[in-house]
Parts: sequence; C-alpha cells; structure tokens
Amino acid sequence: MTIHGNDKKTRGLGGSPPCMVVALLCAGLFSAPLAVHAREGGKIYVVSTLTDYAAIAREIGGDKVKVEAIAKGDEDSHFVLPKPSYADRLSRADLFLTTGLDLELWAPSVIDKSQNGLIREGQVGYVAVSDGIAMLEIPKIVDRGQGGVHVYGNPHVHTSPINAKVIATNIAIGLKKVDSKNEAYYAAGLKKFKNAIDERLYGKELVALLGGKTLDRLAQSGNLISFLEGKEVGGAKLIEKLGGWMQEMRPLRGKKLVTYHKNWIYFSQLFGIDVIGEVEPKPSIPPSPGDVERLIENMKRLDVKVVLAANFYDENKVKMICRSVGAKPIIVPLSVEGTPQVKNYFQLVDTWVNSLRTGYGIR
Ligand SMILES: [Zn+2]
Repeated sequence: MTIHGNDKKTRGLGGSPPCMVVALLCAGLFSAPLAVHAREGGKIYVVSTLTDYAAIAREIGGDKVKVEAIAKGDEDSHFVLPKPSYADRLSRADLFLTTGLDLELWAPSVIDKSQNGLIREGQVGYVAVSDGIAMLEIPKIVDRGQGGVHVYGNPHVHTSPINAKVIATNIAIGLKKVDSKNEAYYAAGLKKFKNAIDERLYGKELVALLGGKTLDRLAQSGNLISFLEGKEVGGAKLIEKLGGWMQEMRPLRGKKLVTYHKNWIYFSQLFGIDVIGEVEPKPSIPPSPGDVERLIENMKRLDVKVVLAANFYDENKVKMICRSVGAKPIIVPLSVEGTPQVKNYFQLVDTWVNSLRTGYGIR
C-alpha cells in the first residue's frame, strides 16, 4: 500500500542502475560521509527529527553510532522553529531520520540549509521511519479548513509499540545502507529491540508460545484478548499467560478517554481505549470557550473520567476541564526525554501505561 507518496523514493539508491551509482560516485556525492566519519570519531552520525527515533536508533546502532535529535522531548513536533545549529548538524549527518509524513513540516527547509545532498528525500541517507506502517485517520477529503490536517493520516505513529518495531526496521535498513560493513551488528541490534518490545508488550511466556508476529496480527485486528480467552494450553487458558503492557492495560479496555490532541490514536487502538474526543476542536487549533463548554457537556454525558495531554499543552486548561467534570488530568511526556526520567522508548510506554492506570484508579 502506498500512502506516503514517498515509499519508493525512500528506498534510496537500492534500485538504481549501476551506471547511475557510478555517475554519482564520480560526481563526488559519496565523498562527504567518509570525511564525516573521521570527524565523528569513526561513528555514523545520525540526526533525527524526534527524540523517539533517536532513542530507537541508539538501541540498534549501539557504539557504532552517535545520535542526536532536533526537537526536544517536551516540544510540540508540529511547530519546531528551525535554528541555524540544526542545519549545521544536518550538514555533518550520515543519516537523517524523519517521520516521512507531514508532521515535521519544518524539516525540508533545514535539509535545504544544510546543503547535504546525501540526506535529501530519496537519497541513501534519508529514512522515512513510518514506511510500511498501517496509517490511521487518512482523510477522505483534504481540507485545510479542518485545522492542521495530516493528509497522509495521523503521523503520531510512535505511540504504538508495534509501530516502534517498524520504525526500528526502517532505521536498521538506513544504517545498513550507509555502513554496510556493520550490517550484522545492526541486524542483531534490531532483533534484540524487536524481541524486547514483544516481551514487554505481551509477556515473555506468551511470546515464547505464539511468537511476536502472530501476537501482533491478533492485537492489530483487535482479536487478541478474545483469542486468548478462547484457547487453552495444558488445561490453562492462554489469557492467563498474557503479561506486559497488554496485561497491565487490560482493565482499561473499553474505558472512555479525552486527549488534548490526536497524539495517542495508535496507542489507544492497540489497547482498546475509546477516545471520544479532543480538547482541540480541530488538530492544532486551540479551543475557544465555546469549544471547552461543549467538551465539558459531552464528557459529563458520556461519563469520561480521564483527560490525557502531552506536557507541552496548556496544563491549566486541562485541569480546569477536569475540575468541571470531576475527571483526572494525566499530563505525560509524548516523547523520550520529555521528562528527565524517560530516557528510552520502554520507559516512555511504561509512563503512559502507569499514568493511565493511576488515572482510572487501578492499582
Ligand atoms: Zn498532530
């Protein structure tokens, strides 16, 4: 399925005829990274738009890479103000990681300013991490009057741990392209990360029994829990073997939630949470007093007990809404490093899971 419009291009030079590669080599386009490696202490220099992609790149690249993110973990990634230092970083980058949709609309101008031909879209050093992810909320009609509409679908893909594995796979492909001699190292890092996500998502025992791929398929089709409840192994129901985030989130299935922005739709779909609305009337449009009033009425009518917001949104507004309806405000980082305690992707999902459990009063 081609939904991003750049799927093919992101494959870089992999499918190019040899003569084109030779021509590019002759043009000196591949000379830059060699010089860069020397400057970065022999490590591949990876620059990402978001801290989440940087964190995953560190898991895969280990000591072969130096990774930096442009947006901060507590910054709204839609609205990053490009600084000259970002272009400077990108001018030295071997690999650039971006969502590849229309989230970081500020990224193309930073790439332009960097004058680094290797990390342009379609080139070997450009990775669209969302490549291959099953997109949600693809608009039928694109109308900019609908606020910050994302024409390819909701770009906040990192909130689903299953998507994190796709992101990791795309990063590993990118690393392999720019540093083929360490291909086996990156492949091992990817395998370790994917396995760690599987075990954290479903519990070790269930992963050993059914494997991550089968579990993902069941989870993404919304059939995991009913499947596990209906199957027995050695006299015990499979559901008793479920562990990890999926088990921790089980009491929250079917619960109603309001979020500030549509940041967690991949997460809520995976864990069966019913998001009934947003504080923003339209994506990235702040609510008017009338919007807030309508939301409060809706929340009272539907008995919504929790509002989830990223920590860069208007916290006072969230608290005021919650006071009016007797709901709990849950303010969390949306990204790795969004608070000092959240240093990697696993701690990020742990934070969401634990905060939501607390919000719904589950011990
Ligand atoms: Zn958004």
